[in-house]
This record gives sequence, structure tokens and C-alpha cells, in this order.
Amino acid sequence: PTSLLWFRRDLRLHDHPALLAARDAAGPDGDVVPVFVFDDRLWGPSGEPRRRFLLDCLTALDADLDGALVLRSGDPARVIPQLAREVGATTVHVSADTGPYGRQRDAAVERALDDVPLVRTGSPYLVTPGRVTTRTGTPFQVFSPFARAWREHGWRAPAGAPDGVRWRTGVRSDDPPPAPEVLADLPPAGERAALEAWERFRDERLTGYAEGRNLPGTAGTSRMSAYLKYGCIHPRTLVADLAGEEGESARRYTDELAWRDFYADVLWHRPGSAREYLKPELQGMGYDSGPEAEALVRAWQTGRTGFPIVDAGMRQLLGEAYVHNRVRMIVASFLVKDLHQEWTLGARWFMQHLVDGDLASNNHGWQWVAGTGTDASPYYRVFNPITQGKKFDPDGAYVQRWVPELRDLDPKHVHEPWTAPGGIPAGYPEPVVDHAHERQVSLDRYAAVRAR
Ligand code: FAD
Repeated sequence: PTSLLWFRRDLRLHDHPALLAARDAAGPDGDVVPVFVFDDRLWGPSGEPRRRFLLDCLTALDADLDGALVLRSGDPARVIPQLAREVGATTVHVSADTGPYGRQRDAAVERALDDVPLVRTGSPYLVTPGRVTTRTGTPFQVFSPFARAWREHGWRAPAGAPDGVRWRTGVRSDDPPPAPEVLADLPPAGERAALEAWERFRDERLTGYAEGRNLPGTAGTSRMSAYLKYGCIHPRTLVADLAGEEGESARRYTDELAWRDFYADVLWHRPGSAREYLKPELQGMGYDSGPEAEALVRAWQTGRTGFPIVDAGMRQLLGEAYVHNRVRMIVASFLVKDLHQEWTLGARWFMQHLVDGDLASNNHGWQWVAGTGTDASPYYRVFNPITQGKKFDPDGAYVQRWVPELRDLDPKHVHEPWTAPGGIPAGYPEPVVDHAHERQVSLDRYAAVRAR
């Protein structure tokens, strides 16, 4: 027998339960046809950095498959059944996609496949979204109790090696879409690059993670997000390594992977939540519009707000298609609470430019910062970009890396360049707003919407 293995967000060969299921279904004499489908519904809206990274991941995967990867373009509900017929596949194997579009697409493919089963094995998460619930079976609304139940639920050990698979070669491929030219500096793509990046982090930087993860001027985090997004590595492989590590850093790192699972779980239970407010009572809060507001949004997008940590973050986004987590929170807070823009606008800009752009993590990360999401805090947080900068980038290294206009300043003035003896260096903008004032405006609008 022949089985079809349809790759989506699982672009690797190791620790891949669906691959092993495809192999076992084909049996010792059968073969497996590996395919990736360029689906316009996903390809079009992915920003250029992600399209480029994905194409490079596919090139690496094809090399690992000795050229057997089949590429097809079009609606999967048409393409997959047609390929299954063409190669005589008796089963189609996938890792489950639990996002709103993926669920609907897979249901359509399943119907169109008719009597050829679509077999879902595993998912991109440690615990498949929907499986961790409260004792009464309802979804968790906030992170901490979710994380406790998630740890109790536990997960499997990494799946075995992909031995004994006979990949069928010579199946016709469509030409891939053209690779976009990307100015941002992207990480090396593919499974091998992911494993190497992880091993370097584990061996050299993991022990300092608990302290270093909040300092954007250091290499304190793992930079695994784009690899996890496309499944070049599965989080099971990471936690299996962490299990042997003592101390706060391994626990913190596992917690961050819990956030990733939590946001996917929220999206599973509330498929509309990538766009709709998790706290609907805040819908309709006052936002700014008009030419002046648009100019401020452009200043944010291009890293010219005059707030150094915000500008550094927005320039890192364009320069590396990535932003440090602490700085994602600061720039998001600034757009929503200093410039009074709806979080959806920022979420869209991020999705267009991030190489790790992921609907669940991004849109719920934005909702968390905007105060419309799963933040358990009873206060309406407004980040102060100056104190955040001083606290988390104390020597100004991060700002000076991304904002060359401020490189000659003494570090003690970097987060407030207007305090430097020579004033704001030439070419760097004055602050576009008064933070203390905008903070109050934001708090007032929040109070007004709550009082409705
Ligand atoms: P590390 O600190 O090394 O963390 C390890 C892994 O844990 C990450 O790779 C990621 O998979 C996961 N993780 C860490 N923090 C979070 C978090 N807060 N939420 C969910 N998962 C997390 N992450 C994305 O993967 N894609 C996004 O599109 C995305 N958008 C975000 C938007 C906003 C406004 C905010 C505040 C956060 C967003 N995050 C997103 C979460 C987080 O910023 C990134 O995962 C992290 O910066 C990636 O860097 P790293 O791999 O070095 O992280």
C-alpha cells in the first residue's frame, strides 16, 4: 500500500508521529508520498519573511528526503484527493491543525477524500489544544491554572526515528511560488538548523535563561520561535532535554512553552478570538483616527516615535523579522495605550513582518497587552517606555544596536536622549507624544467603556 504524508506545520523528519503512522500504514513493502501544498488562503496573507523562511524550510526538507518532496499548488480539498488518486494512496496522514482555518480546511479535505481516511496523529503542541480543562470540563480562562493542569496532564516522550520509510520518488511537482526578496536577516531554515540552534542554546545559554530572558540587549532567549512555528523541531524534543536540567531556568523555559500551548488552547475553544475581543465589554473603547493618528502609526511602524526602546523594537522587527518578547510588550502597549490604536492594527502589522508570526501567540499576545485578553491582572497596565527601557536595557546596548543615531550617547542618556548635554542627537525625532498625558487619556477611556 501507499500512504500520503501531507506536511504543514511539521517540516521535519524526527520526532514526527504522523510520519511514523504513514510508514506503518504503508507497511514494509509499501511506500510513502510526501507532499506540501501551497494554499492561497495561507500563502497570500503570510508576510514576505514567513514566505521566504517557509520556502527555505521546504528546500531543506526536500534535501533530507533526497528530492522526494512533492509540491502542489491550489485548494487542498481538490489537490489532496487528486494526488491520492494519482499515486493510489489508501490513507492520508497529517499532524492535527487546531487553528480555525485549518480545522475547516481539514474537514473539507476529509469530505472530498471520501473513502480514503484522513488520519490525524499528534499536533504542533505538547498537549493537543482542547485536552486540558478544569475539573468540570470547561476551558481555562487564565494562564496559571492552565499551566498547572497542563503539567499534570503531561506529554509523551519524543517519537522514534524515521527508520524504514520508503519514500516514493518521481511524482510530479508544481513549480513553487517565486521566493520573495526579503531585506530582513532571517535565521537559517530547516530541521538541522533548528536542532543546532537548540543544542547551542541548551549547552551555552540555558542556565542563564531565568535571568537573561528579559534583557533584550543580551542573547538571553533561545530564538526557537520560527522553528517551532513551522515544526522544524517539536517542543517534545526541547522538554525531553529540559527534564534532565535542574533549576529555575529549565522551569521558566517550560513555562514559556506552556504559554504557547495555552494560547493555542484559547484559540481552539474560541476560534473567533484571533479577531474578537476576549473581553467583549471592552469592544468599542475609544480609538484615534484621522491624518494625525495615521502619521503617528507610521512613526510607530518605522521606528521614529522618539521613544528609544519602542523605536529599537520596531526597527528590529524590520531588520530581523523578530522582536524580543519584552520589547513586543512595550511596543504593543505603546501603540494601544499611547497612540490609542486598536490592538488588531498592531497584530496585523506584526503578522506581516514577523518570521515567527503565529495567529494564536500573536493575537492573544496583543490582546494580553491591550487588556482585552487573558491578563489576570485587576489593573489596566500601561507600560512606561522610559522606565521599561532603563530597567530591561540598563546599559542601552539594545537601543544602540538598533538606533544608530543614539550610539554616541552616554548609556545613562540613551533612554531619555533629551537629557543628554548636547540635547537630542541630530536625525533622531523628539518624542511624538507626552507619555504621562496619553496614559491618563487611556485610563479615562478605559473607565468610560467599563462604565457603559
Ligand atoms: P524564548 O524566550 O526562548 O521562549 C521559547 C519559546 O516559548 C518561544 O520560541 C515560543 O515558542 C514560546 N513562547 C515564549 N514566550 C511566549 C509567549 N508569551 N506566548 C507564546 N509563546 C511563547 N510568539 C510567537 O511564536 N509568534 C508570534 O507571532 C508572537 N507574537 C507576539 C506578539 C506580542 C504582542 C507578544 C507580547 C508576544 C508574542 N509572541 C509570539 C510571544 C513571544 O514574544 C515569542 O514567542 C518570543 O519572543 C520568541 O523568542 P524566543 O524563541 O527567543 O523565546
